[in-house]
Amino acid sequence: MIYSCKNCGYSSFVSRARCPRCGSTEIYAIAENEGRALLCWKLTATPEGFEDSYYLCLININGKANAFCRSNESLEGDVVEENNGICYRKTKEAANN
Ligand SMILES: [Zn+2]
Repeated sequence: MIYSCKNCGYSSFVSRARCPRCGSTEIYAIAENEGRALLCWKLTATPEGFEDSYYLCLININGKANAFCRSNESLEGDVVEENNGICYRKTKEAANN
């Protein structure tokens, strides 16, 4: 599931009551959790409670929206599936289903 702001288009895999960019409460959900990783950044300064380092990936969801998710590896260029804000590379077996 991705959550997109009606007002400014900000999209995220994380559900929020308000858009973190513009403050709008008009957030709508899109039932998609697959996309292609456009870019990944390795983060070494992470919030408390998270791993010491992880990758932040920008995912394009079927051309509809871009959203960020976390991963433990760089997934750039790969088709990925999101679950609870974490992205996983789709296996060939899963892609055939
Ligand atoms: Zn917004």
